[in-house]
Amino acid sequence: MHYYFITGSSRGIGKALAENALERNATVTGFARNSRIQHSAYDHILMDFSDMDDLYYYEFPKLKDADKIVLINNAGALGQVGPVGQLRDYDIEKLFNINTIASSILSNKFIKAYKDLTIEKIILNVSSGAGRHAIESWAAYCASKAAMDMFSMVTADEQKKYYQYPTHIFSVAPGIVDTQMQDEIREVNENQFKDVERFKNYKANGELASAESVAGKLFQIIDQPEHYNEVLLDVRKL
Ligand code: NAP
Repeated sequence: MHYYFITGSSRGIGKALAENALERNATVTGFARNSRIQHSAYDHILMDFSDMDDLYYYEFPKLKDADKIVLINNAGALGQVGPVGQLRDYDIEKLFNINTIASSILSNKFIKAYKDLTIEKIILNVSSGAGRHAIESWAAYCASKAAMDMFSMVTADEQKKYYQYPTHIFSVAPGIVDTQMQDEIREVNENQFKDVERFKNYKANGELASAESVAGKLFQIIDQPEHYNEVLLDVRKL
């Protein structure tokens, strides 16, 4: 049996990933504040990653019949858009909790729980090009994704060096994807985000990828992790 743990499975890329995994007869556990998938092989854990109260107590289950276990840290938020100095302190904390702290804690728990299993294990972090190139007015978002990339690189290195049965780790930028996150970007006032027109044009020119096509690309990595030597990947270059 293949087991998937997918955060942010209530919509967008995460929902497409969960539905794709279910079509492949895997067992899926999703995490988000809302639950939108009904399927006999799907279990949903209602969780808010903006604070760690629930996540601290979460433990990955023992999976005796597993042939493959995959954690996809996909939940993410754009947060408040605007220059540093004009941001709400509380929103900065929430953003890092959702984008960086939750995924780091889940990765830590996953490796602890399954380190002695000899089966294939994968952690795929859904990062962003914004973690690799600075975008004005997105300081916290960019930094949270850069942190996710670095956490993944260090973890991958440790796995290769010190673990007898290592977990594959990837941090993957999905490209520009037609989800609620892009809707939110286009709604920001130009005073707060000078580049908003560029994002409106992406939509108007049909340049956004669908969540389903991006999920399909991410499965290329999950299906053959041994074919990917780099930790940091970009869906548009696969
Ligand atoms: P989306 O449609 O807005 O989905 C975000 C998901 O994250 C939802 O399932 C949401 O669930 C969950 N989430 C948000 N806040 C949460 C919280 N406090 N606690 C738990 N779950 C929370 O966005 P998306 O585009 O699919 O984004 C998926 C990932 O791709 C994110 O990490 C994002 O940074 C990354 N990404 C997206 C794009 C793009 O162009 N769309 C580009 C680069 C990177 P609930 O609201 O139900 O909690």
